[in-house]
Amino acid sequence: MQIGTVSERRATRQIHVGAVPVGGGAPVSVQSMTITKTADVEGTLQQIYALAAAGCDIVRCTCNEQEAAEGLAQIVPRSPVPIIADIHHQYRMALAAMEAGVHGLRLNPGNIRKPEHIKAVASEAKDRGVPIRIGVNGGSLDPALYDKHGGVTPAAMVESAQQELAYFDEVGFDMVKISVKASSVPLMVAAYRQLSEVTDHPLHLGVTEAGPPPAGLLKATAGIATLLLEGIGDTIRYSLTADPVEEARAGRQLLESLGLRERKNVDLIACPSCGRAEIDVIDVAKRAMDAFGERELPLQVAVMGCVVNGPGEAREADLGIAAGNKRGHLFVRGRNIAVVPEAEMVDSLVEWAEFISEHGVDAAIAKADTAKAEREAAKDRNLLLAEQGADANHAAEKIVEIRKTVR
Ligand code: SF4
Repeated sequence: MQIGTVSERRATRQIHVGAVPVGGGAPVSVQSMTITKTADVEGTLQQIYALAAAGCDIVRCTCNEQEAAEGLAQIVPRSPVPIIADIHHQYRMALAAMEAGVHGLRLNPGNIRKPEHIKAVASEAKDRGVPIRIGVNGGSLDPALYDKHGGVTPAAMVESAQQELAYFDEVGFDMVKISVKASSVPLMVAAYRQLSEVTDHPLHLGVTEAGPPPAGLLKATAGIATLLLEGIGDTIRYSLTADPVEEARAGRQLLESLGLRERKNVDLIACPSCGRAEIDVIDVAKRAMDAFGERELPLQVAVMGCVVNGPGEAREADLGIAAGNKRGHLFVRGRNIAVVPEAEMVDSLVEWAEFISEHGVDAAIAKADTAKAEREAAKDRNLLLAEQGADANHAAEKIVEIRKTVR
């Protein structure tokens, strides 16, 4: 693997969930799940729209009772993204959801265990061309497999998926994707690795019951990113105890950060601040994040604490701002383009981001009076250097102390 890239993706066969291709080299898709009652059609649709706006490609809704299935019949035709029905205990709910027109099903093999029920659902899915996810969950593993393997192990989870696949095979159904989720990151990583060795069905990745952010985000990212970097995984879901929009956003941002999805929103980078900082970097970065919000500006934007090092340290960013002498110095790919009063830093950043997004980096540099901006930046830089000296972080003093300590 080349440094900085994802391993070659494992070859999987392709299925389609509605219009969204999954596996077979398709872009990794983001999924999430509504937390409304599915019978509440308007409330569920509002959440589906919010999820789609946050970058969610496929949405799952529970189908646990007749009213939910009836709700799906109204939701599916109005949804902007494909809808998957989540089925746990009652196989009849799977049949009802297909009747409602869903684009996919999720079956938990630990909860629907009668072979005739599984095969009835698979046969119907085959006739209707509806794909099914075999959603093995460490927490609800079939007790027989639990006993056979001495607990919830990667092998037990993989065997559960294979058993279900065998039932599907019997009726000639193969539009399948598989997940082997667990709340333990090492367990789910090991289970997916084993699974990817024995099947070419597309894999749906997730750490189940990851919990509330930030710990839940970290757990889910640790598991999902580890596998994606190994080329394993075709679709992902963050399972957070939070507004599902956060799940969709996290999924999209993870894929963007791994270079697996084209950037949609601003990637805000900021220096950690140090003795040179001329502004409260944390506050300005937060205000900038709030100002950019969900705007579709696929740029990297930097917030840097000082004009001495900021433009140079963030020269790869499309746009950035660095503070100095109560002014904000805007720069594009390291070139100073404008100086604004400190109070206008965030607004100017947004204005220039919009301009660059529409016209490009070169047009921004051409439009700016770069000679003047560079002169002003040099002035403030020199002023700061004169005030703070070349070693604002007192590193030289610390080095002297270190040398005394280790001597
Ligand atoms: S030198 Fe300037 S840009 Fe770099 S961390 Fe310190 S304040 Fe931020």
